[in-house]
Amino acid sequence: MVVVGPEAPLVDGLVDQLTVECPDVLCFGPTKAAAELEASKAFSKDFLKECDIPTAKYRTFTDPAEAIQYVESLDDDDRQVVKASGLAAGKGVLLPTTKQETVEAVKEIMSDKSFGSAGDVCVIESFLIGPEASCFALCDGKTAVLMPAAQDHKRALDNDEGLNTGGMGAYAPAPCVTPDLQKEIEAMCIKTVEKMAERGTPYVGLLYAGMMLTPDGPHVLEFNCRFGDPETQVVLPLLETDLYEIMTACCTGTLDSIDVRFKENVSAATVVCAAQGYPLKYPKGMEINGLDVTNKLDGVKVYHAGTKLDENSVTRCSGGRVLAVTGIGSDLKSSLRAAYKGVNAISFIDTDGAPQMHYRTDIAKKALQKKLR
Ligand code: ATP
Repeated sequence: MVVVGPEAPLVDGLVDQLTVECPDVLCFGPTKAAAELEASKAFSKDFLKECDIPTAKYRTFTDPAEAIQYVESLDDDDRQVVKASGLAAGKGVLLPTTKQETVEAVKEIMSDKSFGSAGDVCVIESFLIGPEASCFALCDGKTAVLMPAAQDHKRALDNDEGLNTGGMGAYAPAPCVTPDLQKEIEAMCIKTVEKMAERGTPYVGLLYAGMMLTPDGPHVLEFNCRFGDPETQVVLPLLETDLYEIMTACCTGTLDSIDVRFKENVSAATVVCAAQGYPLKYPKGMEINGLDVTNKLDGVKVYHAGTKLDENSVTRCSGGRVLAVTGIGSDLKSSLRAAYKGVNAISFIDTDGAPQMHYRTDIAKKALQKKLR
């Protein structure tokens, strides 16, 4: 089986090509046509509207002058979000706070082309308020099974300060997604898969629904057509059923025939260890110490991302987000304790002996304090 991870090869049609050239190999991931759900925000917004799935009110534009005219026509307090429709490596969403900034955001995307051709089409949508949750659905082209929801931490520093990153930590299940919300979001994912099948573009693989839990109910902010990092590091440990068995069922359209089970009373939390300075300029090549200690801890798993082995088999940093340390426990508190115990044993040391590791110390803090809703 081939599991295609990142969005770019999916959107380029790797699954379509593998299916033709290697018909005996199962392929977990959507076709190019189905990956449009992530490749084009304009497409996914129209699709959501057609399906009557709640999403922020929006308009799409191909002409910057028309987009600016639209922004000018809105009330001053009608806050908007401006998005490049195409793939922009997670950076194509601008969150202006004033009308003037909104106009600037449109210009940045559509006229300055800060995100290249991803900004040929621009989506302008209402600003929603509420906690966010990452919801992963396993899909077999006909139906979907929703996994426990996760929450991630995008900002580089504690208290959600600092720059946006690829994600500094996550935990699951997220208590803000109550059993009722879980059912409601699963129904949205099932409807998505059914409608994609009706269009003749069946969706197989992982559907990642970025949700906002607004006072008017859950709204889809965006779809991604693959697993998300670092949420996957906390969602997969909750699976009881074998992942390969599930993925096989997804690839063969037989998800209905298996019972996808999740572990009861298990929680997972992950803390990303990044190089000092990430997401801006950061050093590489530091030696990573303490992995042997962390690897031996009960209920702790280290996922490597930006690491490499040098010629002497020493593990060194080779990227911004270097490792994710996941703790697994019977509740959020114990999973966090395990994750931080693992993190505390690790250090990145440069050639001058200086520590060069950065991580957030407040992953899931709000959830623990029950401040989420
Ligand atoms: P990703 O890196 O997850 O692929 P993306 O660039 O595709 O991100 P979105 O997930 O659509 O973009 O948006 C990024 C973030 O912007 C969201 O996580 C959310 O915090 C914020 N956001 C997006 N749309 C809205 C909205 N309508 N109202 C309020 N905030 C929003």
